[in-house]
Amino acid sequence: MHALLRWCAPLILFCLPLTTSAITLDEGRGLCRSIYFFESWEYSPDQEVEKIAREIIEKAGHHFVPVVCVGDGGRHTLAGSKRMEHGGRSYYVMGFNREFRRHLGENLRGVIAHEVAHASFPDGLCFGGSIEDYTACELGVDKEGERIVGKGVIARAHEAILRIIEKTRVPPTENDLITLRILRARRDALREGK
Ligand SMILES: [Zn+2]
Repeated sequence: MHALLRWCAPLILFCLPLTTSAITLDEGRGLCRSIYFFESWEYSPDQEVEKIAREIIEKAGHHFVPVVCVGDGGRHTLAGSKRMEHGGRSYYVMGFNREFRRHLGENLRGVIAHEVAHASFPDGLCFGGSIEDYTACELGVDKEGERIVGKGVIARAHEAILRIIEKTRVPPTENDLITLRILRARRDALREGK
């Protein structure tokens, strides 16, 4: 018997998270606190996101443990992600605005694919440049997302995000306006068959 299971056997309820979950609550909290793109991050053992993320990470050829965090409020970005190394393991930490995630429904897959697609590019590549550089970078990330899950999944997610921003982000933040611009640019490119 595996040493961990033997040690855990008398305390199976206490030990269950160690054997069935990829990360512990403390690890999740620590990782979510360390990401930079939200002001207040909470760890969220969101099994639906984790399951889809695990599948897409594998399909993309990466070896990351997915970690899901949530943020609240209109000031927070809709979604973001970051690679992190901790304790000899590679994690892919994804943040979702709680309200945004709730409105996504079946388009969650397209958004996760976009976030996982960021992992194929050097960390921070899309950030720190001009808005034009950021837009070009995000469109490149979408192309990679399309390679992983298909054009239709990404295109439908874009339409959903446009609707969600218009409906729930009033007034939109500066970042939302940039996101809208990128989504419209990608929609135009798709219509032109690019
Ligand atoms: Zn992005």
